Amino acid sequence: MTSIRFTSLAESLPSTVPFVAPEMTERNQGITFQARLGANENNFGPSPMVQDAIQRAGLETWKYPDPSSFELRQALSEHLGIARESFVVGGGIDGLLGNLCRLFVGAGDVVVTSAGAYPTFNYHVSGFGGELELVPYKDDYEDLDALSVRARAMNAKLVYLANPDNPMGSMHKPDKIKDFIDSIPLSTLVVLDEAYIEFADQGDTSIVDPNLDRNVIRFRTFSKAYGLAGARVGYAIAHPELITSFDKVRDHFGVSKISQIAALAALKDQVYLNETLVKVSQVKVQLSEIARENGLVPLPSATNFVTMDCGRDGAYARKLLDALLEQRIFVRMPFVDPENRCIRVSVGLPNEIDAFARALPKALKSIAD
Ligand SMILES: *Cc1c(COP(=O)(O)O)cnc(C)c1O
Repeated sequence: MTSIRFTSLAESLPSTVPFVAPEMTERNQGITFQARLGANENNFGPSPMVQDAIQRAGLETWKYPDPSSFELRQALSEHLGIARESFVVGGGIDGLLGNLCRLFVGAGDVVVTSAGAYPTFNYHVSGFGGELELVPYKDDYEDLDALSVRARAMNAKLVYLANPDNPMGSMHKPDKIKDFIDSIPLSTLVVLDEAYIEFADQGDTSIVDPNLDRNVIRFRTFSKAYGLAGARVGYAIAHPELITSFDKVRDHFGVSKISQIAALAALKDQVYLNETLVKVSQVKVQLSEIARENGLVPLPSATNFVTMDCGRDGAYARKLLDALLEQRIFVRMPFVDPENRCIRVSVGLPNEIDAFARALPKALKSIAD
């Protein structure tokens, strides 16, 4: 043998990243962003109670974390009124999606999702040799009927749906989701990514008993509304049998002690969460006004970002993004046509929103033809 031997699957995959991080852009361009409005983080940060808890947890960080995240699962169980056995905690939704794909996706297995939906999921599917079947959006919504038809036609192992949706911010009402789930055969697992559920009108507590929907798994996170993206804590809710199967493949010590304690404190401070949600809605109104003042059309949003229709094609939106970058404003845009006629602007702090409001008209002017 003359050299190390990758699997043929690994050989066939490109070494890409799903997202270029703002830090990488800063390093490459030699700049510091004045507004970080591209990653749908909670720029208000976590609750002061969380910050205290993290400080105290620091002293205990010599201990391995509880691999079962028992206390956090118990608290989630009480918060949502669902048995503790229905929860698994992992390294963000991203990490858990990888575990899920390892459990369900082998070479040639079909997975259905929307073209331009969350790319990290696709990355995991490809990483286990799965075949992605992509369904177009319809009127800036993930197309439930088309997803269902394709999942059935292809006998898909998984069908993925983010609700509320990233990058468009749209949301299907719970009764639509229920009909969608009912239309999917029991041999296909419905993967519901609810990263933004806390921002939606009905909040995170309207949930169906996982014992009733054996072929559904929901993913939620502390990264967005709770302001803990850097801590990497997410969880899945599903039937206990499916949840137990995660033990076969998950990284048992993958959620740090500090992160577990931070998430627990965040969940306990619902007052702070509600204050955050009020602030987020206010800033979304502001962002929508800024869009309109500049001739862009803000789309309705059930999330912590506002997707703005620039009224032209993807190349134009890309130019706008670059012109904003020039002014040290970090925002992102959808990946595929026709959604890529938009830019996506996350809620941020007042000074960041002001910076965006100043930069947008200049950026638009600089690309006008
Ligand atoms: C932000 C986001 C995630 C990432 O969640 P983590 O818990 O931080 O991994 C997952 N899905 C969607 C749709 C997101 O927008």
